[in-house]
Amino acid sequence: MIPIPLLIALLLAFGIESPSSPPDDVRGTIAGAVGAALGVAAVSFALGLWTAFRVRRRGFATVRVRRSFVAGSRLLSLATVAAFGWMIHFGGWPGLVLGTWGWRGSILVDDALLIAPFLAMQLLSWWGTFYGERAIHGLPPSHVGYRVGRHLYLRERQSLALVLPIVTIFVIRNDLLGRLWPSWQQNPYAETAELAVLGVLVLAVSPAFIRLAWPTRSLPDGPLRRRLEAVARRSGFRFADVLVWDTDHTMINACVTGILPRFRYVLLSDALIDALTPLEIAAVFGHEIGHVAHRHLQYFLFFFVGCLAVLTMGSEVFAGLEAWIATLTTADPAAPSAFRDVIEGLVVLVAVGLAFGTVFGHLSRRFERQADVYGCKVVSCGSADCPHHFDFDEFPESGDTPIRNVCPTGVRIFADALASVAHQNGIDAEARSWRHGSIASRIAFLQKLAVAPEREAAFQRQVRNVRYGLAAGLAASVGLAGAAHWFGVLR
Ligand SMILES: [Zn+2]
Ligand SMILES: [Zn+2]
Repeated sequence: MIPIPLLIALLLAFGIESPSSPPDDVRGTIAGAVGAALGVAAVSFALGLWTAFRVRRRGFATVRVRRSFVAGSRLLSLATVAAFGWMIHFGGWPGLVLGTWGWRGSILVDDALLIAPFLAMQLLSWWGTFYGERAIHGLPPSHVGYRVGRHLYLRERQSLALVLPIVTIFVIRNDLLGRLWPSWQQNPYAETAELAVLGVLVLAVSPAFIRLAWPTRSLPDGPLRRRLEAVARRSGFRFADVLVWDTDHTMINACVTGILPRFRYVLLSDALIDALTPLEIAAVFGHEIGHVAHRHLQYFLFFFVGCLAVLTMGSEVFAGLEAWIATLTTADPAAPSAFRDVIEGLVVLVAVGLAFGTVFGHLSRRFERQADVYGCKVVSCGSADCPHHFDFDEFPESGDTPIRNVCPTGVRIFADALASVAHQNGIDAEARSWRHGSIASRIAFLQKLAVAPEREAAFQRQVRNVRYGLAAGLAASVGLAGAAHWFGVLR
């Protein structure tokens, strides 16, 4: 859900030093930017209209059409980011905005103008792919004019509201802190502290941002709401509200937000409510409860802050180590060239990124399975023989039945829900996902548990060990780096 292309664009525009002297050829610079934007627009309209044409010819969206549309959309966002990167670093855009047009030093206007080409290209690409998305979801192309406007508004609102916290922190850091407290940025722990504060802040106020990002309304009272409330009661899950998330029926998704029960919302998209049976919705709801019950959000926050602390303290230790080695060699240490610095920086960045990605991906996939198991449990009867199935919600007196072990029927309900979500979103069941694992592997795992429920204890133990092991590793690294710093061994 995090708008990753926008984050990368922000990083490209503000995170990396780019040439900002006024370009010699102003017209050429503008022509380059416009050309790149038109290129993105042309490709996105071609993709959207071609997909719509193929769907109309066959009468429905085949797996191949869905797949090529998903792949095409991914390539398109990659191309948008690449085109923007080119504008910023080679196309002379920053020079035009800051130099030729003279916006350097202004508050926010310069930042907004720098990022504007990216936002424009993103808007154009959403506009083009909109026709394909609608066709894939089997929606008629009527009232297209109104729909396009609303669709673009929804997408933009979603993308911007979710990066708002980051932009706010960025402005506070660069424009305010820099003026009021110049020494702060020299502090080696500044970044870690800022990111820790940001993490806590984002988790605490994320419900507000989620509601800013998406139009939502409370799930009206009725059989579905009562069913979900019964599941929550049986799980001891406390929340503020269940919200229907309006996506114009374009997205089948659910999520949970907020650490504090008073500000905790479960969001179910409009299309999800339409596409799944009430029992399947209860299973998906159970999956979201699972994330909260196992405290996944808190652990991720701890993990991020821990990694940042290790990185910050580690870089200090490495710098000390380098200085120490330099004193050992009698030869004059060659002056490090800027080029070598860049290469070194890139290597470190890639290595850290890979290590972090591997560990984070593994953890995330484990957590997803843990939530899946919980989702199965809320619709399970607890018996491996599963003699007759039993829908708790048809028997009001069973409202307080505690959550039991997974059973084959419970697994089937959850697996059906998962497969349905994947299919309708155009995701291939076999497609591997870095953060979630493939749908097929998740279902296979649950089916194994259904036949042998006693395996669950081993699985839960395994996840617990990963959590404690990681925490111990992080704590030890911070401790070591701290000790090295404290005793000045390496200084
Ligand atoms: Zn999940
Ligand atoms: Zn059963």
